[in-house]
Amino acid sequence: MATAHDELSAWLDAAVDPLVACDADEHIRFLNVAAERLFDWKREDLVNQPVSRLFPERLRHFAGKSLMRYLLSRRETLGGRPIRILCLRRDGVEVLVELTVGTLGQGADERVMFSLRRLHEVIDTVREPVERTRQDAQVQPMETGCSRGGEDLYRLVVENAPLGIFHYDTTPIITACNAQLSVLIGSPKRVLVGLNLMSLRDERLMHCVRETLHGRDAEYDGRYHSVTGHKTTPVHIRFTPCYDDAGQVEGGIGIVEDVTERRRAEKERDESLALLATLFHTAPVGLGFLDTDMRYVRVNDVLARINQLPSEQHRGHRPSELLGNSGRLVEQLIQHVLDTGEPVESREMSTRELEIPGPEGFLAGSLYPVRAPGGRMLGVGVLVEDITQRKRAEAERDRLYREAQEAIRVRDDFLSIASHELKTPLTPLSLRLAALERKLEHGEHVDPATLHHARQHLQRITTLINDLLDASRIEAGRLALHPEATRLDRLVEGVVQSMDAQRGDHVLRYAPPSHSVQVFADPYRLEQVVNNLVDNALKYSPDGGTIDVTLEVQGGMALLSVKDPGIGIPEEQQRLLFDRYFRAHNVSSRSYGGLGLGLYISRDIVERHGGRIWVESAVGHGSTFHVALPVLGGAPLHPHAHPPASQPDRHVH
Ligand code: ADP
Repeated sequence: MATAHDELSAWLDAAVDPLVACDADEHIRFLNVAAERLFDWKREDLVNQPVSRLFPERLRHFAGKSLMRYLLSRRETLGGRPIRILCLRRDGVEVLVELTVGTLGQGADERVMFSLRRLHEVIDTVREPVERTRQDAQVQPMETGCSRGGEDLYRLVVENAPLGIFHYDTTPIITACNAQLSVLIGSPKRVLVGLNLMSLRDERLMHCVRETLHGRDAEYDGRYHSVTGHKTTPVHIRFTPCYDDAGQVEGGIGIVEDVTERRRAEKERDESLALLATLFHTAPVGLGFLDTDMRYVRVNDVLARINQLPSEQHRGHRPSELLGNSGRLVEQLIQHVLDTGEPVESREMSTRELEIPGPEGFLAGSLYPVRAPGGRMLGVGVLVEDITQRKRAEAERDRLYREAQEAIRVRDDFLSIASHELKTPLTPLSLRLAALERKLEHGEHVDPATLHHARQHLQRITTLINDLLDASRIEAGRLALHPEATRLDRLVEGVVQSMDAQRGDHVLRYAPPSHSVQVFADPYRLEQVVNNLVDNALKYSPDGGTIDVTLEVQGGMALLSVKDPGIGIPEEQQRLLFDRYFRAHNVSSRSYGGLGLGLYISRDIVERHGGRIWVESAVGHGSTFHVALPVLGGAPLHPHAHPPASQPDRHVH
């Protein structure tokens, strides 16, 4: 037969809510089956244990009282309403409960009863084996929500999620969290559960919590400082409201992501983007990117300058829309890259070819496919380099090379001409000397003409050697001048007379000026100039031709002209005539001897006297060489004076 005690126990065990009874010493005397389940303790293990074991250590004393006494003292104020408190399960997990306290008896017989009601499921461990849960889940899909298997699976998902998850009520106190949250932020679960979010004193976080309590989602980015774990974690939290069965907001869920890695990756990405942007903008080459529709996405300033359009005007446009024909050409190349996936490298084009206005330049363009890491084609990168300078340098190098080749050819020609020229008078000279020697040996009469001819050849050799010496002195800047007041009219007359013997069948005429002409000059060197001009006039004119030498004064300048009816000089070669070793193409070394030095030396002498020398000529119609020199007392003698205005400006030296 059941005793009253057994009957009461059975009654209490049948109750849904957990019940705990203690004595005046705060030791547990009784707990029902619901309480066993809640705390996960066996009844016999808890009976006679201090009731404080059922609560977290930090809550065991309140306001200088034991927790039990404190709760009893609050009973009056609460007027039978429950109090919310965290209690402690056997496995250390804290569980939020509503606790109602009641008392019976006095003194040593006093009994204190707690009725508890669990508020939220604490998401923590999985009690069921995983395999079984899976089977359950198959039989009872998760959407049913109410199934045991579904719940366990749900727990599994939450517990193993790589994200920290917590639930809070409207207080807002954290009522539950998964183990990952502890791992992420370095605080043990027992500290987190029961934590009042207000106590974190983070206004932005509180704003998010308030938003959820008003039924709105919110996002938080910040750092969580764990006092217990001494850890600061950059976190991103997504907040979302939770509703009870009546559709009322009963709290919220926070999903916490440790963004340390993401922040680091973002920082790295930002840094490399900044680096790329700097490179993009400061690179000394034109850079651009076009999408697969051949529209500009970005161009740097250099490319914008080359295209002669502000960089911002490129975006969204095709090259053909902005650059006309050259744009169409570029599009053909881009199309090729898009079709084949192959780059086009260093295609050189002139700005004229591309119809770019302005002075002609040269561009080298490369186009290459730009792909996403997976290989998908994103567009085409364009790299344009202004190679005008390089092209010019190449052209200059080619020119210098040609000139060097020409100089080598001239030198080789000169050597063969010079040896030929020097040898030519030597043979007759040695013949004549041998004849003289023979005659002297035989005591025969010596013909003065033989001596005269020998002398002429010797003179020819001397002149050639002198020219060579003068040319090298000029090159070295060491041709000395000894200027003095000189009667140019007489000097010219003297030269013309001395040449009379050489003129052969030519007619050599001199028309002197009506007045004396005085210049400040080196007479020896001036004679050399006049001599050379008359000598050339005779040499390059047919026998019987008339050479006219004239001297006059025009505007403070003495103007000497030597006119011949000779072979003339090709137009395009007249400007080269006064260069060292230059001989016009219409004179062959066989028919007209010479080293190409006379005019070179003459120009140097004339110019160093402040004068100018030039020629007027036409092939087959003779030539006239002019020399202008400042007269003494007229224009001052200046080594760099400009030629007189009346002079023709072509072929002036
Ligand atoms: P060279 O007469 O010894 O060749 P120059 O320096 O005196 O050297 O003359 C250079 C070149 O100018 C000549 O080789 C010749 O081609 C041309 N030239 C000079 N004077 C005359 C002229 N009066 N008529 C035609 N060609 C001339």
